[in-house]
Amino acid sequence: MPDALDHIDHAQRLLAQLRFPHGDAPAPGTVKQVAPGVYWLRMPLPFQLNHINLWLLEEADGWVIVDTGINSDETREHWETLFASVLGGKPVTKVVSTHMHPDHVGLAGWLCERWNAPLYMTLGDYLSSLAARTQMLDPPETRDIHLRANGVPEEKLKMFERHRGGYAKGVTPLPAQFRRIMHGDLVSLGGHRWQVIVGRGHAPEHASLWCADLGVLISGDQVLPKISTNVGVWPNEPMADALTWFLTGFVRFRRLPADALVLPSHGFPFRGMHTRLDQLVAHHDARLSEMADAIVSRGAAGATGWDMVPVLFARHLDNNQIVFAFAETLAHLHCLETRGMVARRTIDGVHRFVAIAGAPTTSPIDDSGDALEVGPV
Ligand SMILES: [Zn+2]
Repeated sequence: MPDALDHIDHAQRLLAQLRFPHGDAPAPGTVKQVAPGVYWLRMPLPFQLNHINLWLLEEADGWVIVDTGINSDETREHWETLFASVLGGKPVTKVVSTHMHPDHVGLAGWLCERWNAPLYMTLGDYLSSLAARTQMLDPPETRDIHLRANGVPEEKLKMFERHRGGYAKGVTPLPAQFRRIMHGDLVSLGGHRWQVIVGRGHAPEHASLWCADLGVLISGDQVLPKISTNVGVWPNEPMADALTWFLTGFVRFRRLPADALVLPSHGFPFRGMHTRLDQLVAHHDARLSEMADAIVSRGAAGATGWDMVPVLFARHLDNNQIVFAFAETLAHLHCLETRGMVARRTIDGVHRFVAIAGAPTTSPIDDSGDALEVGPV
């Protein structure tokens, strides 16, 4: 096992393989230009991940906002500051949300209503956001069935209780009408054409935006420079193969030029996306191998999802972290199953994963093909 210092060294080595051409982040309420007509701003988040990057695209007669920040008084105040300064009296003409998570869509309803601007989203994330606001996505009964089926002991179920209404608190009501964006669409934003690249595994239909004119990718949460994107299996879709979906989607990004400027939702704008994709594939392949080895060591009894959480997450996890860690652990298990490295045995309603005699302990995914391509990206 690497010790903590090795771990830090490794993370630094990976970061050193990327280039960060724009330096420090702009202070809240200010912006920094990162490409012609493209501006970077940051909003605070009340989580361990304490910030989100948002983007302003300047049009002849207004501004496009890409992602909104979470619904909080603090974020609204920063937006008011920007309206009175950077926007220079021009209105907001379009609001785009890359996906349904509260830091990305939290103030979309407020912004659209205030400026009478349309909301651009994928269908999957627009509808999922509506459903999440009314708690349709995570009813406690479904959650407990899912947790028990994956080996969580009765006394631990409480750790997974979420604050009811938490999503609705972080997200203002969405407009009742929206403009649907789909994979491969060309959308006119800020005087340029941006192509929609849909990724799965992190959110239902996460939209990244690629502008060939500018050589800029607004990657959202789909490609991040430092942390790895959370990829999880959630109670409402218990057999999801989220990690396979996430990794096979990389083909859509590998087609973009190696020197593309990537604008991620967390961290700093960077160049070196192909290198970063290679790092992420290596990271997940290593985690999958560790998990496959752990399952082999358990013999015929195999292991449940709950058993495997400490294999992926050796550190102590608080109640919020355990929810994401468990979802991520299941995503890795389901990916191992898809790759033929473990088999699922369901006994008395509980899924156990067992080693397959003679199965490979590594089976890197081939994301070089174009089977997923439906558009001209
Ligand atoms: Zn997200």
